Amino acid sequence: MISLKDHMGPFESVTYFFERAASRLKIGNDSIELLRQPWRELRVAVPIRRDSGEIGVFIGYRIQHNAARGPYKGGVRYHPRADADEVRALATLMTWKTAVIDVPFGGAKGGIQCDPHEMSEQELNALTRRYIQNISHIIGPNRDIPAPDLNTNSQTMAWMMDAYGQLHGHTPAIVTGKPVELGGSYGRDAATGRGVVFCLEEWSRIRKVDPAGSSVVIQGFGQVGSWTARLIGRLGCNVIAISDQHGATYNSKGLDVGAVYEYHRENGSVKGFTGGEDLDNDELLELECDYLVPAAVEEVITVENADKIRAKAILEAANHPTTPAADSILNDRGVPILPDLLANAGGVTVSYFEWAQNIQQFQWDEERVNSELRERMTAATKQVATRAAEEKVSLRESAFMIGVERVERAGTLRGFV
Ligand code: NAD
Repeated sequence: MISLKDHMGPFESVTYFFERAASRLKIGNDSIELLRQPWRELRVAVPIRRDSGEIGVFIGYRIQHNAARGPYKGGVRYHPRADADEVRALATLMTWKTAVIDVPFGGAKGGIQCDPHEMSEQELNALTRRYIQNISHIIGPNRDIPAPDLNTNSQTMAWMMDAYGQLHGHTPAIVTGKPVELGGSYGRDAATGRGVVFCLEEWSRIRKVDPAGSSVVIQGFGQVGSWTARLIGRLGCNVIAISDQHGATYNSKGLDVGAVYEYHRENGSVKGFTGGEDLDNDELLELECDYLVPAAVEEVITVENADKIRAKAILEAANHPTTPAADSILNDRGVPILPDLLANAGGVTVSYFEWAQNIQQFQWDEERVNSELRERMTAATKQVATRAAEEKVSLRESAFMIGVERVERAGTLRGFV
């Protein structure tokens, strides 16, 4: 068993949480080994002609962790740090997440090590197409279905669908998170943020706490962070600080989120927003608030700052924002964490709706998407909270136990071991 250390790699960290759950569930060693290892890891070189005329070669990955419950499913991120260990960790998380939210998928993740902010649209289009060509033999609507993640969006998915279609014929169900005009689902853009809000709403109901008037701090203002910020006001919450990679803005009385959104759209950052004062990113994480919502990158809550976090609860909209050592410190301090496996599962849930709509060739309206999303987020939040109370474990341990148990059961039924 992996022991708790201050600094662990991303895959080691996720495996640490998995092993604790497997041990509580009394899963046998042979099954543990089967569940721990990714089933397939593909590393590809992705060469493109740069605008300068030179050839640039980028390294990409598609890592498929487990497909006991259905086809592999998981996003593709474009980031300089998207190495094999990070992609492997995120693929593993997807296996447990799809099981917790109970959609019929396994877990995978992809990544290309690049800085998309330094690339033109033409270069990103070429990079995406070449990546899909290089992994096309292991993906498919019944094999592995990519989706957006950090620095990829509906445009990236449209290029992916087109590149796959050139090889295999028109196949909208090959990716989710597409533009609506190309078979994307209504409500997919907002789904992860909306899911975070549904999760908080149900958890508040369970604890008999009214979220109205609570203060919220959000790290990250991309697809997940900006939608969470825009939708959380419906619960009566007050967003007091928001950051992006360039800096943060803070107003103790509450930010006008619509105005921050417009400012960010025009200026490419929330920094300098006149309705708030500038902060740096580290200060933002340590602000006093009711809910801290990391919605940017992983491992931002660590041993270095866990003691300084003054939030009363944490909602993990990002994947793996809290290291195991920080998780342990926060648990000891009694700070509840709604874990990534549950809190950000709204994205993959609506991805599942999109995939189902593509296969049925029938489009749902947004109301149906949002109401089915609410149902699933509410049910999963209830299950995770109930199991945590019954087993006297944290919400994260409970979510891992539910996910691991379901995947192990599917594997056993299939006769893997
Ligand atoms: P995105 O690229 O749209 O946005 C990322 C945001 O984080 C940007 O505002 C960026 O400026 C900011 N950021 C980057 N580094 C930062 C730093 N060091 N400090 C503060 N802000 C920083 O990405 P996204 O799709 O919103 O994904 C965010 C997180 O949510 C990731 O962990 C991703 O894996 C997770 N997630 C995304 C989805 C989805 O549907 N997109 C679903 C589940 C989980």
